Amino acid sequence: MRGGYLLLGCVAAVLFLSCRGAAADSLVHRYTVGAFEVILLSEGAAERDTSLFVGASPEQVRKYVPTGTYVTATNAFLVRMPDRLVLVDTGYGRELFKNLKSVGVEPEQIDAVLLTHMHGDHIGGLVRDGKPAFPKAAIFVAQQERDYWTSEEIMNTFPVDKRGGFKNSMAVMAACGSAVRTFDPVADEDAELLPGVRPIAAFGHTPGHTLYMVDSNGSRLLIWGDLTHASAIQMPAPEVAMTYDTDPAMAIASRLAVLKYVAENNIPVAGMHVPLPGMGTVSAADAGYVFTPVP
Ligand SMILES: [Zn+2]
Repeated sequence: MRGGYLLLGCVAAVLFLSCRGAAADSLVHRYTVGAFEVILLSEGAAERDTSLFVGASPEQVRKYVPTGTYVTATNAFLVRMPDRLVLVDTGYGRELFKNLKSVGVEPEQIDAVLLTHMHGDHIGGLVRDGKPAFPKAAIFVAQQERDYWTSEEIMNTFPVDKRGGFKNSMAVMAACGSAVRTFDPVADEDAELLPGVRPIAAFGHTPGHTLYMVDSNGSRLLIWGDLTHASAIQMPAPEVAMTYDTDPAMAIASRLAVLKYVAENNIPVAGMHVPLPGMGTVSAADAGYVFTPVP
């Protein structure tokens, strides 16, 4: 028992996922996946309105978001392995360093950062004062993702006021330099990037959006990045997309495939925009799915 945390023991079928719960509004939540500890590092929660939805019917909006707003969050995850420390995304970088410190981790100790994609709320913590925030870390990103967000040619097809994401990505990749390691999550889907970590392509939200399956001693956890942004409507109606999906139709297809896979295989999931505690299980219900948070 660590620091007064209560062992709640959340079990999903044969998969063992335990959580040491903290208050729901805590910025740090800890879970056990085999020999790994997975720690949610929250950048905070927010309410958003339904104007961000693409393809939601008025009936769906009334049914699933009756108040007109829904709760979302921004999370990063630290995976503490017996022999290395791995970050999955870095949030905006607002609370990240304070959160890391609160679990006894200094940025210099991080061995690897895995990026799900290159939006600012995922790569914001990679660079501090123009320098790599994690000086020892290899930065893993899908080649398709890196190539898209660092292409001036693609950037120039967008209006000037829509180029910020490209410019930010270019600056971050330049600052990280030779620490960046690209991979192809389609060709290398079954290959381990690190011991116990496999990439899964789920393109659509962005051109190289990648999920990470964490696997230790037969226990698994899928860290699914931005597979959902608005759980309230996208779980019961996964065919609703978001205005910030690069390719909404592809994002929907990826979401449907992943939800089916984790529901059928009882694989616990964690998401960057899943409201706290940010982790849970998925089961099929009616035409969509239900998300059950860990207790
Ligand atoms: Zn995001």
